[in-house]
Amino acid sequence: MRQTNLISVPSGRFLLPFNIYRFNDKIISPEISEVTRMKKRFYITTPIYYPSAEAHIGHAYCTVMCDILARYKRMRGVETYFLTGTDEHGEKIQKKALEAGVTPQEYVDNIAKKFQDLWKAMKISNDDFIRTTQERHTKVVQDIFTKLYNNGDIYLDKYEGWYCTPCESFWTDTQVGEDHLCPDCHRPVHKASEEAYFFKTQKYLPDLLKAMDDNPKFILPIARKNEMMNTFIKPGLNDLCVSRTSFDWGIQIRENPKHVIYVWMDALSNYITALGYDSDNHELFDKFWKDPDTEIVHVVGADISRFHVIYWPMFLQGLGLRYPDRIFVHGLLDLNGEKMSKSRGNVVSPLPLIDRYGVDAVRWFLAREFAFGSDGRFTPELFAERTNADLANNLGNLVNRTVAMVNKYFEGVTPNISNLGEKEQNIRELTENTIKSYEILMDDLKISEALTKVTDLLNAANKLIEDRQPWNLAKEGKTEELANVMAVLVNTIIVSAKLLSPVLVESAEKIFDQFGLDEKQRSYELNKEFCPFSGTKLTKGNPLFPRLDIKVETEFIQSISK
Ligand SMILES: [Zn+2]
Repeated sequence: MRQTNLISVPSGRFLLPFNIYRFNDKIISPEISEVTRMKKRFYITTPIYYPSAEAHIGHAYCTVMCDILARYKRMRGVETYFLTGTDEHGEKIQKKALEAGVTPQEYVDNIAKKFQDLWKAMKISNDDFIRTTQERHTKVVQDIFTKLYNNGDIYLDKYEGWYCTPCESFWTDTQVGEDHLCPDCHRPVHKASEEAYFFKTQKYLPDLLKAMDDNPKFILPIARKNEMMNTFIKPGLNDLCVSRTSFDWGIQIRENPKHVIYVWMDALSNYITALGYDSDNHELFDKFWKDPDTEIVHVVGADISRFHVIYWPMFLQGLGLRYPDRIFVHGLLDLNGEKMSKSRGNVVSPLPLIDRYGVDAVRWFLAREFAFGSDGRFTPELFAERTNADLANNLGNLVNRTVAMVNKYFEGVTPNISNLGEKEQNIRELTENTIKSYEILMDDLKISEALTKVTDLLNAANKLIEDRQPWNLAKEGKTEELANVMAVLVNTIIVSAKLLSPVLVESAEKIFDQFGLDEKQRSYELNKEFCPFSGTKLTKGNPLFPRLDIKVETEFIQSISK
């Protein structure tokens, strides 16, 4: 593997979120993606969700992307921990519960269950699901507050300013402008005043700026970093108000119980409380946070990047902990060009899509249709066309044709290769290059680009069938050439299924079954060999992805958008 030549050089500073690598005695700067070194462990998190409406496909997007990365790392033999959960405190929840006539705890219990059910349906492989009302979290958050207070990072003062209820944030006159709108969510703000605790931001800002400058991959995509700088940091960063007294659905400050801890300080801490930070059971924390040989990746939506990019690293530094390696800000999905929202009546739930097309088609669309990091568009036509183009016509068609031909010409047993012809040799090279590029792109979180490499390989295999016309080779009695073509097609399908298995969680296994692979033959490691599958006995399976009628399916998807 690539990392054998790479030796990490201790940076000498605990807070730097990256290492410098040495490659053949040359110092490699971390922005060169080809040498992104795979660390021994991988810790990936989704934001913990704060749902006030029904979960739609936009919510599922981030979780599916994280799941793909977690499954990919596990497949590569990297010890991986994948965390998601729900953010259950705050004024908004208290109000919603009151409206619904239930207690806040009853309200969030119901929501947390809905999320867990959805992740199950989408085959999300999270290792833990943290809820911020759990004692393992609330107790530690109180300790975190006390630590930062005793450190001198937090002080008590009085706050007067403009308050945005949805964002639970105070703003200054300049920030809200003449229209008195929240600079973050653009909703109206109101004057508020309360005794409150504040976190000193200036103390840690220089180190944060240095980390942002030194490591171009700390905040991705780069446009998001620039947005943070220009909107929030350059105009002057105020101290952050980290307590509230206007409501009580939150974690109390132990030393001053009329205050609850600001929901963002509470929520962000989940990334370490879930690992057992500051508890008796801190084995996971030692492995997945403290150890610099763990790559820590937070994936967040653009609407909450400010808290992750600016304040979370500061809290961590106050606690004497290292920064995450990357904060990746993904784009948002719209539907037919409009922001998805329940009030607009244009929300698509993933569940009826999964029922009709299978979980793999839904995961595939989300992962493949747009670059991770850019905004994306969901339309019924795009969904149906993408499913047809990649899954039915490319992958599904190749599998069906190959299985039929191996059955017909070789009695269902994968033949061995001998002297490869030029076209088969080309596929061999393309296969090796595809595996290499796929790994580089996946390690760099470029999921859609990595998948495109695999669909290119599948296209090339379909073209090999057209070029070599196996039915003619059979007629002419060219058995050796025919065997080579079949073995190469089988190998291409199996390698591709392995590369796609983090996305196509059900179909990849079906393909392995159809080609009669044993456990060892399913391993990722076997990709180092070319055509090691001779002798495997194929079975007939149902077509993986039936071709969709675009018009019929467009109408169906429109009918479930509400
Ligand atoms: Zn706001």
